[in-house]
Amino acid sequence: MKPTVLVVEDEAALMTLLVYNLESEGYRVLQATDGEEALLLADEETPDLAVLDWMLPQLSGIEVCRRLRARPATANIPIIMVTARGEESDRIRGLDTGADDYITKPFSTAELLARVRAVMRRIRPALTEDLVTFGDLTLDKVTHRVRRGEREVHLGPTEFRLLQHLMEYPGRVFSREQLLDAVWGTDVYVEARTVDVHVGRLRKALNGSQERDPIRTVRSAGYALDETYAA
Ligand code: CA
Repeated sequence: MKPTVLVVEDEAALMTLLVYNLESEGYRVLQATDGEEALLLADEETPDLAVLDWMLPQLSGIEVCRRLRARPATANIPIIMVTARGEESDRIRGLDTGADDYITKPFSTAELLARVRAVMRRIRPALTEDLVTFGDLTLDKVTHRVRRGEREVHLGPTEFRLLQHLMEYPGRVFSREQLLDAVWGTDVYVEARTVDVHVGRLRKALNGSQERDPIRTVRSAGYALDETYAA
């Protein structure tokens, strides 16, 4: 479950460089060469972060940013704007439109990667840190240990990945299909109800007889971690 970065850039050479560097850092990269493609990909894949070029053919980067912010499904995707223009007014306009950070061309890839890491850490700490917590649940991605309070919870590998995915996006509702893609992978054929079986096992392992269930079943939609549980 690598964090996914959407790169929107119409210069092929720069795209190649960004993709190479981001993939080397362990990100999964989605590529769009214009604004329409970017909006489609963002809708379909809900990336964890977008690196968005300001100067794009047809739809400008600013317009893409504005539209991403206007749609509920993509409103919270962190955005780093990339521009050749260094004027302060552009910078302010970019941040006004809802970009989270800003980088000016030419930049070093090391600088961009540092920005990406910083934004990821700030906005999705659960994706970059080894230890993820939610209420009294703690999940260690390195040792693969899970605790509920003081109690150690023993999970199978699938239940572990399922819980990790839910904990990385607390409160977000995932359909069975989305969970299949994220936990089992897109190249495996598994029936949707398999997800229900593994959620059942996960619940059984997590919840003692008197304990509250941190997983919420959302009718006809899927599953989520119950945000009121950690509140
Ligand atoms: Ca461009």
